[in-house]
Amino acid sequence: MQFKNIIGQKQVINRLLSSYRENRVAHTQLFLGSEGTGAFALALAFAQYINCEQKQEGDSCGICPSCIKFEKFSHPDVHFFFPTTTNDKVKKDPKSELFLDEFRKYLGKSETYITQQGWYEHLKVGNKQGSIFVRDASDIIAKVSLKPYEAPYKIFIIWLAEKLNESTSNKLLKTFEEPPENTIIILTAERYELLLPTVRSRAQLIKVPKINVEDLEKALKDRLQLDDDQAQEIALLSSGNWNLARDLAENSDDVQANFVAFRQWLRHCFKPEDYTKLNKFNTDLARMGREKQKSLLNYGLEMVHQCMLHNQNHNNLVMKDGEELEFSKKLAPYINANNQEAIYRLLNEAVYHVERNANPSILFTDLSFKLIDIFRTARTKA
Ligand SMILES: [Zn+2]
Repeated sequence: MQFKNIIGQKQVINRLLSSYRENRVAHTQLFLGSEGTGAFALALAFAQYINCEQKQEGDSCGICPSCIKFEKFSHPDVHFFFPTTTNDKVKKDPKSELFLDEFRKYLGKSETYITQQGWYEHLKVGNKQGSIFVRDASDIIAKVSLKPYEAPYKIFIIWLAEKLNESTSNKLLKTFEEPPENTIIILTAERYELLLPTVRSRAQLIKVPKINVEDLEKALKDRLQLDDDQAQEIALLSSGNWNLARDLAENSDDVQANFVAFRQWLRHCFKPEDYTKLNKFNTDLARMGREKQKSLLNYGLEMVHQCMLHNQNHNNLVMKDGEELEFSKKLAPYINANNQEAIYRLLNEAVYHVERNANPSILFTDLSFKLIDIFRTARTKA
C-alpha cells in the first residue's frame, strides 16, 4: 500500500512524513479513525514507507524488494495482529497467527480498507465477535525480542486495539511502553472510549478523520467509474466512510431488490391493519443476513433523501427514474420538516444496531412500529 492509494487524508499523510523526516517516529502509535476512514491502510502505507529501500518524494517506491513484499502483505518484518474467534477450521484457542493466510486474503479482497463486519463475514463466524487474546500477546512478545529479519525496522500492526482484552493489554504494557530498538508498534482503533486507559496512555495518538466529500467523490469516479452525479450523491450519503461508499456503489445491482423490499415494507407501515403481513415481512427481513439488512436500510436513507429533494424542488438532483421515481414522488408528501430528521435518525440507528448484532427480529419490529406512528401522524396532517 502506497500513500498514493490512500483515499484523501492528505493532512495525516503529511504529518506521518514529517515525523519520519524529522526523525521523531514514535515507537508506539495509535491510529484512531472510525470505520471506512482508512486507519489500517494508512498504518500499512506508513510501514511500507519506513522500510522502503528507494523512498520517493512523499511516498514509498512500490517496486523495491521490500515494497513488493509489502504489496503481498508478506514482508517478514511486518507482523499483523487482529481479532479472531473460532470457526470451522480453528475449533479452539484462536489467535492471529492461525488466521494469517485468511487475513492476507481479506486484505487483498478489501484493498486494505477492512472492517470488523467484513472480516467476520470473511471468516464465516456468524454473529460471533472476535478478540485479541493473551496468546497473541505471547506471540507479540516473542517476536518483539527477535532482531529484524532483513529490514531496518520490525513493524507490528495491531488492528482494532479496542479488542485487546484486559489480560492481553496488561501483558503488553511493558512492550508498548518500551519496545526494543528498531521496533515500531502501530495500533489502530475505531473507538477511543473502548480502549483501556493503560493502552491509550502508552501510544502517540494520530487521529484519522472522516474522509472529506470531495475525496470520496473523486475516488468513486476514479476507482469505480461512477459518473459525476452518482459519485456526488453516494459521496454525500457515505458520511466519510469509504467502505459504505463502495458498498452503495457496488450494490447498485441490489437496488432493484432493495426498492421492491422497501416499497413493500412501507406499504405495510402505511396500512398496518393486517399485522400478520408486517410480521411475516419482518421475519423475512430478520433472516436476510446483516449485510443485506444494512443495504436495505441504507437504501431507505437514500430514498428519504430523494423525497427531501422533491420537496425542496431540487428535481434536477433526483437520481431515480422509472418505478423508483414514481414511488419517491408518492412518498415525498409524507416526508416533511417535522419528521424527516426522526426517520433519518431511526434508519441510521438501525444500521448501527445491525452492525452490533442486535436481534434483527426485535429491531425491525420496533422500527416498523415507529415508522407506522410517524406516517400515521403525517397522514392526518397531509
Ligand atoms: Zn520501495
